[in-house]
Amino acid sequence: MTEATPITVAFGDGIGPEIMEAVLNILKEAKANIAVETIEVGEKQYKTGNSTGIPATAWESLRRTKVMLKAPITTPQGGGYKSLNVTMRKTLGLYANVRPCISYYPFVSTHHPKMDLVIVRENEEDLYAGIEYQQTHDAVHSIKLITRSGSERIIRYAFEYAVQNGRSKVTCMSKDNIMKLADGMFHKIFDQIGAEYPQIVKDHYIVDIGTARIASAPEKFDVIVTENLYGDIISDVAADVSGSVGLAGSSNIGTNFAMFEAIHGSAPDIAGKDIANPSGLLQAAIMLLVHIGQADTANLIHNAWGYTLESGVHTVDIYNKGSKAKVGTADFAKAVIANLGQKPGTIKAGSYKNLEAVANKDVASTVKPLERTLVGVDVFVHYQDDTDKLASLVKNLAGEKLVLQTISSKGLKVWPDYVAGMNLTDQFNCRFKKTGDTLTHADIAALLTQLAAHQIDFVKTEQLYEFDGKLGYTLGQGE
Ligand code: NAD
Repeated sequence: MTEATPITVAFGDGIGPEIMEAVLNILKEAKANIAVETIEVGEKQYKTGNSTGIPATAWESLRRTKVMLKAPITTPQGGGYKSLNVTMRKTLGLYANVRPCISYYPFVSTHHPKMDLVIVRENEEDLYAGIEYQQTHDAVHSIKLITRSGSERIIRYAFEYAVQNGRSKVTCMSKDNIMKLADGMFHKIFDQIGAEYPQIVKDHYIVDIGTARIASAPEKFDVIVTENLYGDIISDVAADVSGSVGLAGSSNIGTNFAMFEAIHGSAPDIAGKDIANPSGLLQAAIMLLVHIGQADTANLIHNAWGYTLESGVHTVDIYNKGSKAKVGTADFAKAVIANLGQKPGTIKAGSYKNLEAVANKDVASTVKPLERTLVGVDVFVHYQDDTDKLASLVKNLAGEKLVLQTISSKGLKVWPDYVAGMNLTDQFNCRFKKTGDTLTHADIAALLTQLAAHQIDFVKTEQLYEFDGKLGYTLGQGE
């Protein structure tokens, strides 16, 4: 027998320890060739004053094993605590969150018996980068960070995942009708990379109608790839309509590390009662086994689990009129163990294979760097008076290299031609454009020096660039 693969295991909080114990029992009886290293992360760590919830010993174990099975964690309420999940995803470069959402009708009640989709969610960027600034009494900026490299990586991952897992369609969801630059780039990259996969059907939905369709007709979808925030929302919708939040697992995959967990939280309302469904964490463990090259054991467990569901042995969250026995967490695990070697009849049998990790297929971008030209600057000013007055104040301070072009508030042009009735804030964006052929950082610094000398309370500046002659900024509505 080959040497056991070391994996890092966190028992978590709330129902975490009960469901983890159940899952580890199943893994042991299925003879998964793993060596468990236990770490303590979460609530207890937070309470010792560690604001990340992750001690140094946990990072050491992870650096050694590179693979983690994690039970849910309770994030304490109140300020100062960092989300452990977000910290881990970013620190370990876990860029892809993969969440299969499958219905197990008629054994689990659902309105969507044919649902079998996988959400591939970008995991490191978007509003989750956590870059926020309050500049004035009234206004806060939350930066939505989308990168070309991050978008290429997740979109390629989604297509490679589809190919490896015998799936036929990849759907992109974005909001590029509104966020033309950020989501526009994501959609464009989807079209570019998608062209390399002629065998896969491709389509795109604006995320709002796409989410509605997941709720009303999830069987239309196969693999969905999307940005971080949309992915967060649609994956909860998808998990919920599949029947129970207790059933789905997810993987967080990077080039060097991988973390597997149930999609649900620590369920403090049912903790310690031996009633939680361990299936979500078990599904995560099955994904882990495939990741470490133990697909046969993954299939063995998947089949025993499917057979158990079909035999009507159910935890309370999925108990329905077709169920035969209501069992607790530990007894559900015992039933799965007793069924090792059995195969489900209706639920799809496990067909996992040992394949090269999809993340290893990460390829460098082929897009050549774009030519960048500085063409102006937006200066955000804290101001609460008449916009004509603001315009006449700053117009004369622009110098020879710049000219005041517009003033906007909340992305809406308010000068020239202010339309009475607009709801303004205490922050105005004065857009200066270059007058000649070239503009330098020194010209912008000179403008700011002038504004400061005249007590203009500027709170933020943003350079305006063109890339290969195309605007790298949006125009204000009405501009
Ligand atoms: P939750 O998922 O813990 O619970 C939502 C509902 O689903 C509850 O009624 C719960 O009893 C039920 N439920 C969840 N898992 C179940 C299972 N396996 N079997 C049966 N029923 C189950 O969500 P919440 O209540 O919003 O969050 C509770 C805590 O979990 C919070 O501290 C939150 O921050 C944390 N959380 C952690 C993770 C994670 O570690 N990955 C994810 C989500 C939430």
